[in-house]
Amino acid sequence: MTAPSGDAGPDIAGAVAALLRDVPDFPKLGIMFKDIAPLLADGAAFGHAIGALADHARACGPVDLVAGVEARGFLVAGALSRELGCGLVAVRKAGKLPPPTVRRSYDLEYGSAELEVPMGVLDGTRVFLVDDVLATGGTLRAAADLLAQAGATVTGLGVLLELGFLDGSALLHSVAPVHALLRS
Ligand code: AMP
Repeated sequence: MTAPSGDAGPDIAGAVAALLRDVPDFPKLGIMFKDIAPLLADGAAFGHAIGALADHARACGPVDLVAGVEARGFLVAGALSRELGCGLVAVRKAGKLPPPTVRRSYDLEYGSAELEVPMGVLDGTRVFLVDDVLATGGTLRAAADLLAQAGATVTGLGVLLELGFLDGSALLHSVAPVHALLRS
């Protein structure tokens, strides 16, 4: 077995790897779900992970807001925004936010989905965008496009885990390199 690796070095990658739980066939057959609950529950390890994302976010330039994608991305974004001392915006599934909003649909493997952000808080802002897991990249790409549509500049992208074999970063090349604490 190869040692865990990621963009913040082997120590953080190892800590994240040790605290992810693999759940086979969830939420459907054939999917290996990466449960971040053990990482969230370990205060020291979660703190180090957020600290490492914050280091990268700072290196990307000034940040006004951290954006997190519903739902587990909210948890990362909330902690990271406090670490950076900046604000927060929730990228939500369609229909959850009160109007006015900006909405964007995107393709999934089967069918499509929609994301939404509030109008009026993003125009002219510099936003660092996070989620828990990068898989095919469709969600993060749609979120980045939506933020741009709402008038923000995406300064960088961060995730706890990238499922490298799905090559989701390829979809995000034109936005920013993805900073993944663990790449499996
Ligand atoms: P994708 O659009 O394919 O990159 O999927 C990313 C979104 O789906 C993220 O919001 C993740 O929380 C979730 N996701 C996708 N695959 C997994 C997985 N294997 N384990 C946990 N979450 C996942």
